[in-house]
Amino acid sequence: MSHSDQFFYHRSERGIIRHRSQVYGRSILGAPLELFLPPDPADFDTLVIAGHHGSEAEGTVLLSSMLRTLKPAHLRCGVITAINPDGLFRGTRCNAAGVDLNRNFPSSDWSPNPVMYRFNTEEPQNTRLSPGIHAASEPETVALLELIDRLRPKRILSLHAPLACIDDPRLSDYGRRLADETNLPLVGDVGYDTPGSFGTWANENDIHLITVELPVASQQEIRNLYSQVFLKVMQEKFQD
Ligand SMILES: [Zn+2]
Repeated sequence: MSHSDQFFYHRSERGIIRHRSQVYGRSILGAPLELFLPPDPADFDTLVIAGHHGSEAEGTVLLSSMLRTLKPAHLRCGVITAINPDGLFRGTRCNAAGVDLNRNFPSSDWSPNPVMYRFNTEEPQNTRLSPGIHAASEPETVALLELIDRLRPKRILSLHAPLACIDDPRLSDYGRRLADETNLPLVGDVGYDTPGSFGTWANENDIHLITVELPVASQQEIRNLYSQVFLKVMQEKFQD
């Protein structure tokens, strides 16, 4: 058995996810909200999540392929491949109620104003979504808040696209190393207002959230560029 066989499945075995999982809630349409866990579920510092915006499937596919590659004994993170499964199968940024879940968090700046986003990356923000009828109005948001309260991870990495940066408001060593290894610039702020965002809520609640904004690229390119670094993240080979 080679060194790598000890950690990684042979390609022929990478079709399915074998890690233990836990359902932490249900989406509006009844899809399970699923968390993958290390062998000792209490033993992890980092929660890695993707698919807050269902249209950003590249993050979901990247995390899935890393889970299918890494053997369960070596997983040292909690992983959620789809925060918004209804959006993922409908191909929408929003959930099934038309809410941008990343504007639905109970931060001090949550706003009932419509959320405008870019239908195409080249265009201005011209497509309207709802931030919810009130903060934390959506089951996907409530379930994530309860999960974070229960798990109390030391840090959360949240995958989005396509801004091509590592957004770490603390400009931490962890964020700096992630920026170095992904070759993406480290920023402390995305440069525009995001009322009710997960990031704003996390900051206000002293939770270290690093947003990984993947670049515009095919899923294959994303996997080629970032597999090595996310395999390290999942094995917790990054340290503060
Ligand atoms: Zn996003």
